[in-house]
Amino acid sequence: MNLHEYQARALLKAAGVPVPDGDVASTPDEVERIAADIGTGVVVKAQVHTGGRGKAGGVKLAADPAEARAAAEQILGMTIKGLTVRKVLVAPAAKITSESYVGIIVDRESQRPVLMVSPEGGVDIEEVATKAPEKIYKLAIDPRFGLLPFQAASLGFKLYSDIKQVRQAAVVMQRLYTAFIDAGASLAEINPLITDDEGTVVALDAKISVDDNELDRKPAIAQLRDSSAEAPSELAAREAGLTFIKLDGNVGCCVNGAGLAMATMDLVKYYGGEPANFLDIGGSSNPEKVVEALKIITTDPHVKAILFNIFGGITRGDDVANGIVAAAKQLTLEVPLVIRLTGTNEELAVKILEDAGFSALTDMDEAVEQAVKIAQEAA
Ligand code: GDP
Ligand code: MN
Repeated sequence: MNLHEYQARALLKAAGVPVPDGDVASTPDEVERIAADIGTGVVVKAQVHTGGRGKAGGVKLAADPAEARAAAEQILGMTIKGLTVRKVLVAPAAKITSESYVGIIVDRESQRPVLMVSPEGGVDIEEVATKAPEKIYKLAIDPRFGLLPFQAASLGFKLYSDIKQVRQAAVVMQRLYTAFIDAGASLAEINPLITDDEGTVVALDAKISVDDNELDRKPAIAQLRDSSAEAPSELAAREAGLTFIKLDGNVGCCVNGAGLAMATMDLVKYYGGEPANFLDIGGSSNPEKVVEALKIITTDPHVKAILFNIFGGITRGDDVANGIVAAAKQLTLEVPLVIRLTGTNEELAVKILEDAGFSALTDMDEAVEQAVKIAQEAA
């Protein structure tokens, strides 16, 4: 689950990170009023679950309330990376003298939270990561001890030469780590971490993503979910009880069980294809779930073939077959299906599918190879 910037800022502020004040609004009227209350120049910032808002025109400076209103009129309703802006954050504009990057992610390789910092923060951090990775400094944190003061200070020296700023940055890093752990986050980043015109270190942007599996343990964080701001396909999947992650390829995958879904994606890649998604319809699927899954997969225009890979254990093959037939009736399927189905009620499933004009394979390799080929030929 992703948090909005204003929510992440509030968590950082509660942890003691210096963050400018600010208020969230959903109409130009409110923005004008907040800007008048602030009384100085403000920044109006799109609240959507994606980075790159600055480059997309979703972050605007305004000298007075009238300008703030005009900025809000432009930003509210705009689309950034497919997401519609429904809220903006209005905050006093900071005067920036430098922009750094500070972030923590869960790193699989070291199996630890890894703190990353760079003196070259701001809107081009991705470019720094690819073109000058030596300008990004990393430290794997031992969760038994947390981020120790000397470790934070040594990374602070990578950002600043002024000792006061080094100390401030070190404190920010330690508090960011606390916020990261307390939120059950998989990512917590500040980009940019600025120095302002008085030389003070301030967090100007905040991003926190929380592992959905943490939410039962963190009810206060779970409450921060803003369904209206989620990607429509991921929201539809969650409401249907499906585990779905959109990817960039063209082979739509509909699989029962997370392990088999992973194996299927590996095999798609092995045969030279690219999966369009990860989708686990779950152990005890019913036909409606299959219908929902197909709806979600077919809304992605990049999908050129849909691969069903069903290993019937608790999942009954006939349920899946009925779901496919029902979906084919409800939706106009323009993309070819390749179905691989074995296990519980396999014979019945094959009969249901064949009666409806589909065919089913039992061999996984054969099915994956076929789906990849269809997608490649259509691309
Ligand atoms: P992102 O593009 O989605 O990461 O949004 P950010 O909040 O990081 O803003 C993008 C850029 O806008 C920052 O790197 C700053 O250069 C600029 N910016 C954001 N807030 C302010 C502000 O208060 N004052 C000034 N001068 N620039 C700002
Ligand atoms: Mn940013």
